[in-house]
Amino acid sequence: MQEERRKKRKKGIIMVDIKLLKQEKDAATFLVKGTTPAYINTLRRLVLQRVPSMTVEEVTFVENGSALYDEAVAHRMGLVPLVTDLDSYFIKSQCKCNGNGCARCELQFTLDKKGPCTVYAEDLKFADPKVKPAYPKMPITKLLEGQNLKLEGKASLGCGKQHMKFAPGTIHYRGYPKIKMNKAGEVAAEQCPVNVFRREGKTVKVADDEACILCNACVEMSPEGAIDVKASEEDFILTVESWGQLQIKEIVLKALEILDEEMEALKESIKSIK
Ligand SMILES: [Zn+2]
Repeated sequence: MQEERRKKRKKGIIMVDIKLLKQEKDAATFLVKGTTPAYINTLRRLVLQRVPSMTVEEVTFVENGSALYDEAVAHRMGLVPLVTDLDSYFIKSQCKCNGNGCARCELQFTLDKKGPCTVYAEDLKFADPKVKPAYPKMPITKLLEGQNLKLEGKASLGCGKQHMKFAPGTIHYRGYPKIKMNKAGEVAAEQCPVNVFRREGKTVKVADDEACILCNACVEMSPEGAIDVKASEEDFILTVESWGQLQIKEIVLKALEILDEEMEALKESIKSIK
């Protein structure tokens, strides 16, 4: 496989193997083999800055009797992750309305609560029932007896490049750990904080290299040259975590779709050079 990959790379074809290592409710870890730091970092930047999500953008207060300022309440609502339907909305700047705001890029909502109570994210009532808070019980503010909170506002689709509140999650990677050790490193290896090494009888072996977080603690504690830990520049462990607006699959697919569009646009603009 390695050889085939090398041959294809010489011809300009990059073969990438992807294997799912771990899947949790809101996070997934993949092993991406046979790529470059530039490619994997491009994917990371696209997820953080270009994959859109729906977020509260504008709030008009009718009544705010809570202990929090209008700005603080609006700010808290802006941080509520909203389940986003990417097929139904456009980013405002790319919408047919030229950013003026219309039903394709904006969504109205209202909130009307009377104290005593806690105002939760689920109290935001959106005109489109498909858009709702990912975590209904996120508290926004508390109201005492006689305090009211009444407001209306707009949510819109945007991306992390405009403001980080639009980012659909977080993504990070590390080079696949390449670990070498000899007998002199065994004492230090057993101090590993994430249990990469395991004692088997009289020897200590590398048991779980994927667990290595490249902290280099074992290298620093061992005699020089006894343990060597390097990060691969071809194979990577990639972790994607969703904040609830989109599924992990949607986040990664959208990032790849944007990358394809950008590369196509680059191709077209190069073609037009005379
Ligand atoms: Zn519009």
